Amino acid sequence: MWVLGEHDECIRKTRNSILELVGNTPLVKLEKSLPDDIKNKNIEIYIKLEGFNPGGSVKDRPATRMILEAIQSGKLTKDKVIIDATSGNTGIALAMVGTALGYKVELAMPSNVSEERKKIIQAYGAKIHFTNPLESTDGAIIYVRKLVEKNPDKYFYIDQYNNDANWKAHFYSTAVEIWNQTNGKITHFIAGIGTGGTVMGTGRRLKIYNENIQVIGVQPDSPFHGIEGLKYIETSIKPGIFDENRLDRTMFVGTDIAYQRARELARKEGIFVGQSTGAAFEAAIQIAREIKEGVIVFISPDGGEKYLTTALWEV
Ligand code: PMP
Repeated sequence: MWVLGEHDECIRKTRNSILELVGNTPLVKLEKSLPDDIKNKNIEIYIKLEGFNPGGSVKDRPATRMILEAIQSGKLTKDKVIIDATSGNTGIALAMVGTALGYKVELAMPSNVSEERKKIIQAYGAKIHFTNPLESTDGAIIYVRKLVEKNPDKYFYIDQYNNDANWKAHFYSTAVEIWNQTNGKITHFIAGIGTGGTVMGTGRRLKIYNENIQVIGVQPDSPFHGIEGLKYIETSIKPGIFDENRLDRTMFVGTDIAYQRARELARKEGIFVGQSTGAAFEAAIQIAREIKEGVIVFISPDGGEKYLTTALWEV
């Protein structure tokens, strides 16, 4: 049982920038949402709540590192505009971090991304270039490459799919937090694959701590029924930072079951998440059914707010 302690719970501390609040997200043990056959096993399942980042998603970590590294290397100067192709969360994160550091941000994304995402990005003052929804994120990537080629002096291209600072953000933060939060007991790590940054960076560091930790990537089970933020890598432009040899396993999860798991987290645990969290949770449940004992950690990339107008919460 969780009880209130007899101590002040108010931490009085000021911050100099919103960016100081990126990372150090909570890890929460799941109980009520676990199927009965798992509840009786010697297995713990934890959810890493990346929605607690100030920009609302896991992407605050790589956005911060990609921009700071670019500034430090001298490639991103004050006269340049930050640009990238993104299906949403990276755009929100780049808009937040860029603005916090005093840069202009422009983003290319398919015009069919949810209204919430567009509005949040515009709220930070960033500009959106809408691309053909039939060409998905690939179309946005090709569009940005052409735009940057034409205006090399105007733009700094973040290129999250090929930027090592993307996976390094997770190598130096996400993995360290998970290792400490589980007291080194983690046996399985699960994360959805978009650029692959989360699973590559976190997985690489966890394997250094303990090479027996299983690193599992999650993808939608169909290239046509994608889950926002996740990609079916076989049929798309392969991210340069993604190396499937570093994964112990890839699991494919359908949209319907991902939705169901996301709803169970909200209704049984009081944890309101997006659909790719549901996909990762389903993968965690499948792993838990296969093993006798273990400590499974999966990433919840974001909260449910941005999906309110999608089918996920139309129930
Ligand atoms: N889920 C959601 C909702 C996302 O926005 C992202 C990031 N695009 C991911 C999963 C996957 O993250 P990564 O790019 O680190 O593979």
